[in-house]
Amino acid sequence: MLVFAKIKSVKQKIASLNKSTSIGFVPTMGALHQGHISLVERARKENDLVVVSIFVNPTQFNKAEDLVNYPKTIGKDLSMLRNAFCDLVFTPTAKEMYTNNISAETFSFDGLEHEMEGKFRSGHFDGVGTIVKRLFEIVEPNRAYFGEKDFQQLQIIKNMVQKQKLGVRIIPCDIFRESDGLAMSSRNARLSKAHRSAAPLIYKTLQKAKIDFATSDPESIVAGVKSIFEKESLLDLEYFEIADELTLQPIKKKSANQDYRAFIAVNAGTVRLIDNIGL
Ligand code: AMP
Repeated sequence: MLVFAKIKSVKQKIASLNKSTSIGFVPTMGALHQGHISLVERARKENDLVVVSIFVNPTQFNKAEDLVNYPKTIGKDLSMLRNAFCDLVFTPTAKEMYTNNISAETFSFDGLEHEMEGKFRSGHFDGVGTIVKRLFEIVEPNRAYFGEKDFQQLQIIKNMVQKQKLGVRIIPCDIFRESDGLAMSSRNARLSKAHRSAAPLIYKTLQKAKIDFATSDPESIVAGVKSIFEKESLLDLEYFEIADELTLQPIKKKSANQDYRAFIAVNAGTVRLIDNIGL
């Protein structure tokens, strides 16, 4: 497995490949867990060369302490990637990616960026768009793998790729969960014991919302979820929304032939957790 920190080294390797070599790419921020590895395994099955990037992107953090506290486990990450038969890992520094100007481009994602996470993490999706576009220019993947865990991010990347004709296929991947249903996340390691025990309520609530969606209207489901979390003092509900899967607009009424999804964000102490489910 090759490990490169320089853009030039990655570009040289990509340029040396036979034109028919298919490249599968998994961008990550490291602190890898089985959820990330499930994306790498899918990329491994579908491509000749698998590239993973590990880069904690400063421009997508709206809180400085979140960036500083982001877990870093590079030794363990590399050994997990080796075991998953990854071919190349790109581990640039912020200076390598941004030279001396650590700032994001401003994008329009047709309003997708103003919903949910956009309301609570200002500038976040400009940071994501900036870095993903730059990584695509360097790696030139045929396919790029993104988890449905960050469903809004996935839709935003699809929107960017389509509008800017970036020539990469975006492959959505299922959410990988702990045995008690909690969606795997690099942030889970920062949960206290008590918050970790309370956290499975998030997915339980999503599963209940899915069942209720067959017979109840969205507004009453939202009200029900709020009252569930009012009773759980360890979990502070930031938002729960039922939205159209394509536009991410919250809905009041269902229509036929539309796909809907429930989205949730919860603060468990100082750790912010997100999850979602197809309805
Ligand atoms: P991150 O390192 O958090 O930026 O995540 C890198 C990629 O892994 C993103 O496409 C995430 O959506 C995806 N990912 C993170 N957690 C999971 C999970 N539990 N299941 C599936 N994909 C995930």
